[in-house]
Amino acid sequence: MKPLIYAQHLTKTYGSNPSVVYAVNDITLGLYEGDFTVILGRSGSGKSTLLHILAGLLPPDKGSVQLDDFSIYSLSDHARTLLRRRSIGFIFQFFNLLPTENVIENIVLPLHLDRRKEDSAYIDTLLKELGIEDKRYAWIHELSGGQQQRTAIARALALRPRIIFADEPTGNLDKESAQEVISLLQKSCLLHHQTIVMVTHDESAAALADRVIRLEDGHILSDVRNSNARQ
Ligand code: ADP
Ligand code: MG
Repeated sequence: MKPLIYAQHLTKTYGSNPSVVYAVNDITLGLYEGDFTVILGRSGSGKSTLLHILAGLLPPDKGSVQLDDFSIYSLSDHARTLLRRRSIGFIFQFFNLLPTENVIENIVLPLHLDRRKEDSAYIDTLLKELGIEDKRYAWIHELSGGQQQRTAIARALALRPRIIFADEPTGNLDKESAQEVISLLQKSCLLHHQTIVMVTHDESAAALADRVIRLEDGHILSDVRNSNARQ
């Protein structure tokens, strides 16, 4: 099967000699449609750097990222921004919601930025699935951390992007909310055939993943498909 995203020989360093850090060190990998991929690794292993490069947010020093037939870092900044807006979703550790807008406005805003009209029935379904249908008109500061992250998940899903990247989406949540958020992401992947790549240092996430990639010192330590994830 052809991967949705194919990254080749990605390298990203920080600093200069003699103290160069290889945040990402010659990583080649394909990401496949419909997969819930979990990237695990200790703090500093290069997870965020890799995810940002794959999502079109950070140009690598070397290597390429192919999405469909586009080599995303060969595009102009403008074309890459449009491609990202249309095709790539991102979920952040600190939610990145607009405090001046309520829940539903936060969810539809990126659609409107892309001059798309929202599919209200689909958004209602998402709010229900994510357990925030009664928070539709709530202000962000009225929500718990878990509810804020579920709002950010709805925002990402509403765009129906080709792929969603999530960088430590549970890093700022208590254990119970964290587990809820991870299982909601897995469920969204299944129910909506939404391709998701999640970075975490929470080992328990591995059990729910279709595929687990472990990073160490900027390279792939192991890459295992989990055939039991959906049973
Ligand atoms: P992780 O997300 O797994 O914690 P990161 O990708 O954030 O890892 O970082 C990988 C390595 O690159 C670390 O050694 C980190 O200190 C370094 N690094 C990341 N971003 C920067 C930056 N903007 N400037 C300097 N060093 C950085
Ligand atoms: Mg990180």
